[in-house]
Amino acid sequence: MENVAVIGAGTMGNGIAHTFAQFDYKVQLIDISQENIDRGMATITKNLDRMVAKEKISEDDKARTLNNITTFTSLEQGVKEASLVIEAATENLDLKLKIFKDLEKFCPSNTILASNTSSISITQIAAVTSRPEMVIGMHFMNPVPIMKLVEIIKGYSTSDETYKTVEEVSKKLNKVPVEVNDYPGFVANRILMPMINEAIETLYNGVAGVKEIDTVMMLGMAHPMGPLALADFIGLDVCLSILNVMYDGFKNPKYAPCPLLVNMVMAGKKGAKSGEGFYDYSENRKAEVVSSQFA
Ligand code: NAD
Repeated sequence: MENVAVIGAGTMGNGIAHTFAQFDYKVQLIDISQENIDRGMATITKNLDRMVAKEKISEDDKARTLNNITTFTSLEQGVKEASLVIEAATENLDLKLKIFKDLEKFCPSNTILASNTSSISITQIAAVTSRPEMVIGMHFMNPVPIMKLVEIIKGYSTSDETYKTVEEVSKKLNKVPVEVNDYPGFVANRILMPMINEAIETLYNGVAGVKEIDTVMMLGMAHPMGPLALADFIGLDVCLSILNVMYDGFKNPKYAPCPLLVNMVMAGKKGAKSGEGFYDYSENRKAEVVSSQFA
């Protein structure tokens, strides 16, 4: 396997492209927006610079990594020689189904088609292609160059051969692959999101404030980040959409998103990326608690 196409140059896509390129794969990084490609490449360069400064890689490694990446705004051009495609476009069902239908047309017949989706069913994505046995989930964690885990999700029809190939590739990236079956939330989010939702319920019910809840989980459970800060980092809209997928998928009220989370997303408070969530991320109040709402 030499050519790996990555679709989407956002948070996850640029991290995935960076990681494959650093391990000497030829990466075709594709996005519909040239501006997002430029931003993605700037992020990769910045992250490589940080690794050079920490003496984790050399200047030569940085140059080689950047050289291994070619960018495209055309899906057809970007995937035509790929042995593996990893789709990391925006989390939207219709968009992903459209992309996988197009991949079916544009990729060689032996290309493995992977999705980095956090919550959409791999089985449903695979069903729009005529090669469901070659469709699989590769759920990387953010930030991709640093986090060791890849949750590998086997759809209903994914073959063992496809699984083995993707498992091997993950190990070549120095990651630890974990095999998971395709049910809502997979494993990571099925466990993480109810914890985040419960932290929000705890706040909503007035049991404790933002800082207090996060402090309990950091100092009491040795979590590196509190659940509310983590929710801000992931994006509150993303947390809400994953909880909704689990709620719909299991028809179980234990996954019902807390009304406070729903309200915050409706108000545009999406966490760090929108400048405000449970904490305020504006320049002069970097990561202070939004006290007017939660004091
Ligand atoms: P993002 O919004 O940062 O980036 C998405 C990118 O996809 C954008 O640059 C957008 O222009 C591009 N895009 C949209 N439509 C496209 C198309 N048709 N063709 C090519 N590019 C297209 O999103 P993200 O946070 O990187 O998430 C990407 C995927 O990874 C989602 O499925 C998400 O669920 C999953 N994921 C996210 C995280 C996380 O922490 N952010 C973690 C694990 C998995």
